[in-house]
Amino acid sequence: MHIFYNHQHALHQGKVEMFRGELVPCFEVPARVDHVLAELQRRRFGTLQAPQTFDDAVLARIHSPRYLDFLQHAWDEWVALDAANAARDALPSVWPVRTLRSDVLPANFAARLGLFSMDAGSPLTSGTWAAARAGADCALSAASHVAAGARSAFVLTRPPGHHAGADFFGGYCFLNNAALAAQQLRDQGAARVAVLDLDYHHGNGTQAIFYERADVFFASIHGDPHTEYPFYLGYADERGAGSGLGFNRNLPLPRGTDFAVWRQALAAALQDIQAFGAQALVVSLGLDTFAGDPISGFKLASNDYLRVGEDLARAGLPTVLVFEGGYAVAEVGVNAVNVLQGFMQTSKP
Ligand SMILES: [Zn+2]
Repeated sequence: MHIFYNHQHALHQGKVEMFRGELVPCFEVPARVDHVLAELQRRRFGTLQAPQTFDDAVLARIHSPRYLDFLQHAWDEWVALDAANAARDALPSVWPVRTLRSDVLPANFAARLGLFSMDAGSPLTSGTWAAARAGADCALSAASHVAAGARSAFVLTRPPGHHAGADFFGGYCFLNNAALAAQQLRDQGAARVAVLDLDYHHGNGTQAIFYERADVFFASIHGDPHTEYPFYLGYADERGAGSGLGFNRNLPLPRGTDFAVWRQALAAALQDIQAFGAQALVVSLGLDTFAGDPISGFKLASNDYLRVGEDLARAGLPTVLVFEGGYAVAEVGVNAVNVLQGFMQTSKP
């Protein structure tokens, strides 16, 4: 399996995030990817592959031009406000909810930071754009590799992507790597692509991006948004809209769900993906379903991830796996590589 590794991931390293009224150290840290890389090397698994560089126009297939423009220049604007800002990250604190306007692009930087975000948990840093941009290249490269005939590829990157919408960041995500990969597979010939989101948190960004489309099916298994982030999307009654009606499937599960029950949801999602007639699959591979995750509530054990990989491989589709969440840092490497190993052992050559 080719591993598209983002060598620039550590350029994004947030200092603090807002959590329960306090600024606390970020959960989403560079060590997450470092542990996966170390485990890949320990097992001599896969071949590290440098990504191609893609034009910004490819990003605009998923993200709005005004959002991309903001993200690219946000750090410079932040520091231009006050030279002392260079020592602290930019965190939003005001948002255009409901009766407020989001069509106007304010001149004020804090106002635009809120316009283009969904929470105060996702610090924007000096290296955020460079890291996210290089991660997008990895996702696009992996999709191109699979479109050219490879059975599978793994995108090893951070910051993650599935909470990022067409025009906002949040949930530690800035550019939606899974959505970019799905679009790239479409653009390179797959008529029908499925995105399967296995992160503990609903992939609100990916769902919204494809919600009115019949060519990309989105399925997600996640903590019930009544109690779990991102709260405002991910309910079972969200089935798509317009020509996308019937092409969205949410499988929310309560906190405390164990692997046996979770695996039934996985079977249901994969059955939908088969019925849809997907020609390629993108997996948003979050490992925060692990029992030891500090901010999540499912009960999967490390060995269960081997079974997850096997189940994914049995779907028999060309597959791009994209690294998303997973905050039990010491275990995330073993858990991620277990999925890949289960997948490879079950894949037909
Ligand atoms: Zn997550």
